[in-house]
Amino acid sequence: MQIRCRIAAAARIDSERSDPLLAVSLLAVSKSQTSAAIRELAVALKHGQGDRRPAFGENYVQEAVAKRQDLSDLALEWHLIGPLQSNKCSLAAAHFDWVQSVDRLKLIPLLARGRPKALAPLNVLLQVNIDDEDSKSGCTPEALPDLAAAVACESRLRLRGLMAIPAPHLDPELRRQAFRRMHDLFDSLRRAYPTVDTLSMGMSEDFELALQEGATLVRLGTALFGPREPQD
Ligand SMILES: *Cc1c(COP(=O)(O)O)cnc(C)c1O
Repeated sequence: MQIRCRIAAAARIDSERSDPLLAVSLLAVSKSQTSAAIRELAVALKHGQGDRRPAFGENYVQEAVAKRQDLSDLALEWHLIGPLQSNKCSLAAAHFDWVQSVDRLKLIPLLARGRPKALAPLNVLLQVNIDDEDSKSGCTPEALPDLAAAVACESRLRLRGLMAIPAPHLDPELRRQAFRRMHDLFDSLRRAYPTVDTLSMGMSEDFELALQEGATLVRLGTALFGPREPQD
C-alpha cells in the first residue's frame, strides 16, 4: 500500500526512531464511511501488518457502536477521536479500545466507571488545543499535569499519550511549529509516566510533516478512503 511507504519515508527523517514502520501506527478514520467500505479496507490493511489489528477511528459514539456490531466477526481496534460528552462516557468506555479526545477532568472517573471489568484497561490520550482555537476541543498545555495524574490514578484507564488537531495553517512552517510544541509536551509526559508511548497527530493533508516532527500515530481519512461527503 502506497500510504505505508510514504509513512515509512517520512518517519525516517525523525532521527530518534530506530525502526520507522514499527514505531508508527496507522489509524484509518472511518467517520461517514459504510461498514462495507470499512470491511474492505480492513482486509487490505491486514495484509502486510503482521498480527496487529487494523485500527479505525470514529467521531461519533453511536455511529461507531453500530459499525462495530456489523463488523464483529473481524478483529479490529476502535478509537474515539471526536469530542466526548459526559453522557456518552460509559457507552464509549464499553465500545472503544482507545479514547483520544479526553480533555477535561470530569470525563475521567466517568470513563473509568464505565469500563467493563472483563475488558483490558481503556487506552487514553489527552487532547491538546495546541493552537488555542476558540472552536476546538482540547485542553490547554497548562492543564496537562492534572489530567495526566487523574488518568494515571484510575486502574481501569491506561495513559498512553497525547492527541492534537493543529489549526489548518496555510503556512506549513506554522503547522510544523504546532507539531513541534506537541512533541515537547509529549516528551515531558513520557518522562513522568512510563505507560506513555503515543503521539497522535497528522491527518491526510499533513501526516508527513507530523511524522517528521515525531508523531507515532497518524489519523488518515481521505488518504485511505477517498473524499468524504461534506458533513463535518
Ligand atoms: C476527520 C478526522 C481525521 C481525518 O481527516 P482526513 O483529512 O480525512 O485525513 C483525523 N482526525 C480527526 C480528529 C478527524 O476528525
